[in-house]
Amino acid sequence: NKKVVLRNYVDGFPKESDMKVVTDTVRLQVPHESTAVIVKNLYLSCDPYMRVRMSRPDQSIEFPSFVLGSQVVTGYGVAKVVVSGHKDFKVGDLVLGITGWEEYSLISDPNSLIKINHPELPLSYYTGILGMSGMTAYIGFYEICAPKKGEFVFVSAASGAVGQLVGQFAKLTGCYVVGSAGSDEKVNLLKEKFDFDDAFNYKKEEDLNAALKRCFPEGIDIYFENVGGAMLDAVLLNIRNLGRIAACGMVSQYNLEKPEGVHNLINIVLKRVRMEGFVPKDHCSKYRKFEEMVVQHLKSGNITYVEDIAEGLESAPTALVGLFNGKNVGKQLVVIARE
Ligand code: NDP
Repeated sequence: NKKVVLRNYVDGFPKESDMKVVTDTVRLQVPHESTAVIVKNLYLSCDPYMRVRMSRPDQSIEFPSFVLGSQVVTGYGVAKVVVSGHKDFKVGDLVLGITGWEEYSLISDPNSLIKINHPELPLSYYTGILGMSGMTAYIGFYEICAPKKGEFVFVSAASGAVGQLVGQFAKLTGCYVVGSAGSDEKVNLLKEKFDFDDAFNYKKEEDLNAALKRCFPEGIDIYFENVGGAMLDAVLLNIRNLGRIAACGMVSQYNLEKPEGVHNLINIVLKRVRMEGFVPKDHCSKYRKFEEMVVQHLKSGNITYVEDIAEGLESAPTALVGLFNGKNVGKQLVVIARE
């Protein structure tokens, strides 16, 4: 059983060499009378929050650190049940849930797994648009942002797993939507493929405040926050009265020793802005409703999706690290087996 483990804790930007692939043996048998299942892992999701689990235990916030050397790196994935001790799961079932970055995983609490309802769609979609990234976009946009037709929406890291879907939800709602991304290729994708009204390459802008003023002469009603730092500061100068900010993530800050200061917070008071953090795990009961909505839109062609697929477990460390320099174009995932 090949698996990815953490070699050392990470300070600053993660590197491929912070992880390694090791091999051990696995018994394809669940303990007697246990309700565990064994799954064969097919597709693994690469997610920015995993960086937090690579920090030293005293520095890790919210998520526990990985144990060095022995514990497999874990994350969301799509897998197939190959041995089952649980009455609700049979061999061959396709599932989505937290699994190991390894070929086979023992899942001791299968109740945490979600059965895949639409195997007619590419299974990899369940690592992203039909998985945690998609739920994040759905909850963040529809529940936290409370959007109305005609509003001005700004999305950062807009071509990524979460951002590309937020932008498309905003268009379906009848909003005007602009995205920022870190390359011209991604900016083109936003405008040509995902139907954003406008987009800009934040790395080429000397003054983010001026870029936002250019894109939003009347100001921003909704900011879907994926990056934090200087972009958040610039948005605070351009947000309208009663604006909403869905604080989804702040990827520009995860590798900094000291987070950047945000200087324009007073605008939250002056403009009566609501800024709210959220995690999709607080909204699990809405998963099936979300899944059906997105599946219908995918099937009718109203929503499109771009993935960046790395091949093989050996490529997983590089794929994960690439999230922090913008190497991924679309949702980053790793395929370790297709069936
Ligand atoms: P993406 O697919 O968007 O990949 C990460 C992207 O972040 C990169 O491609 C890069 O795009 C951008 N990025 C990296 N470093 C920086 C930087 N220093 N400044 C600006 N942008 C940077 O990832 P996800 O869609 O999975 O995640 C997007 C955000 O949502 C993250 O902040 C993540 O933590 C958060 N999130 C939160 C969840 C929650 O439960 N609240 C759940 C899932 C995600 P570019 O080339 O455009 O710079």
